[in-house]
Amino acid sequence: KTVCVTGASGFIASWLVKLLLERGYTVRGTVRNPEKSKHLLQLPGASDNLKLVAANLLEQGGFDEAVQGCDGVFHTASPYFTKNVTDPQAQLIDPAVKGTLNVLASCARAQTKKVVLTSSVAAVAFTPKRTAGSFVDESWWTDVDYCEENKLWYNISKTLAEKAAWDFAKENGLNMATINPAMVIGPVLQDSKNTSSEIIVDILNGTMKTFPNVSIGWVGVKDVAMAHILVFESAHATGRHICSERVLHYADLIAILSKLYPTYPICAKDADETIARVPIFTLSNQKLKELGINFQPIEDVFQEAVTSFKECGWLA
Ligand code: NDP
Repeated sequence: KTVCVTGASGFIASWLVKLLLERGYTVRGTVRNPEKSKHLLQLPGASDNLKLVAANLLEQGGFDEAVQGCDGVFHTASPYFTKNVTDPQAQLIDPAVKGTLNVLASCARAQTKKVVLTSSVAAVAFTPKRTAGSFVDESWWTDVDYCEENKLWYNISKTLAEKAAWDFAKENGLNMATINPAMVIGPVLQDSKNTSSEIIVDILNGTMKTFPNVSIGWVGVKDVAMAHILVFESAHATGRHICSERVLHYADLIAILSKLYPTYPICAKDADETIARVPIFTLSNQKLKELGINFQPIEDVFQEAVTSFKECGWLA
């Protein structure tokens, strides 16, 4: 079978391409910058079964060639959140929303049998209705007004993109499912740091002095990549799929890393000790467990990630 992975050079997509090649798929990967994509060509099976195609999210029709004749399309490309957002509309929201609709329009024209969209827990769980002990499942949606008040631009980009995708899929009879990962961490195949890797590096090397008052789910990158494949392969896998091993407050995350790595200069403290910590909640991962994902414990994921970061020279 032939499948297309958009944003193939990214952290999650590189693992997806690797696992797809291992499973015998022929893969077309869309990339913006071939220079950032060399690692993909080194993957086992790449020389025979991987083709890289240049495409940009905001170029209308730019994905037509890449998705033509594919049995499935994994749309992962979207700007991931960074600290340096000066123009959220141009940097995050437009590429996410317009880019997603652009890719889906190519899929509709090519009559793609199934599309798996990489959405996020950022499109699920950010709402004032969440309280201590909330059980958050796929019926939840992030509240865009709440995100605007809190300047959570990335969360807005993912929520609007996923909503637009569902509307488009319904109107155009496109068979689509989403994966909604929590914070994704793990060994890297590419040689640049994405934001979730940077958080762990900054905590361990002592660059992060204060941590945000945030509780968020965490999950291993290999489980996220495999979730995409299992959802694609299972005809009965429809709708949204939350992908999270465990919810941690940043304080819990620091405690776990301090225990695993007592020799690193970890020093992050509460940003404001007078404010009560945001409570822990539960993210339902039942749908993916039923499909066969046996989530790797997050402590193991952190250890694999750190080994990889050392190999990359990001940590001593
Ligand atoms: P990366 O930043 O590593 O990957 C993002 C990918 O999107 C890159 O391949 C990037 O291309 C591509 N991209 C961004 N903007 C454009 C554009 N204008 N045109 C074409 N391609 C573009 O991050 P991740 O692997 O973590 O993210 C992949 C997906 O997973 C995203 O949809 C993200 O929202 C989602 N996600 C990530 C989570 C995480 O914790 N990492 C959690 C939940 C969801 P280039 O390499 O050229 O920059």
